[in-house]
Amino acid sequence: MAATGKGNAKVIPLKGRRCPICRKPTVAAWRPFCSKRCADVDLGRWLGESYRIASREEADEDEEPDDEH
Ligand SMILES: [Zn+2]
Repeated sequence: MAATGKGNAKVIPLKGRRCPICRKPTVAAWRPFCSKRCADVDLGRWLGESYRIASREEADEDEEPDDEH
C-alpha cells in the first residue's frame, strides 16, 4: 500500500525561507524565490549589475575633478 506519493501537485512553501525579492514565502519550484517572476527579476538585476561593471571598465574617464588652470 502506498500511503505516500499520491501525486500531489500542490506547491508547498518552504518554511523559514522567504523570497529575497518580495519577501513572500519561498516556493520549492522556484527557490530561493516565490515565483518565476521574482526569479526573472533577480536574474535581471544580476545581469544589469554585470553590464554596469563591464561598461564602467570601458568608460573609464574623468575620475579626478577637473581643476581650472
Ligand atoms: Zn517573490
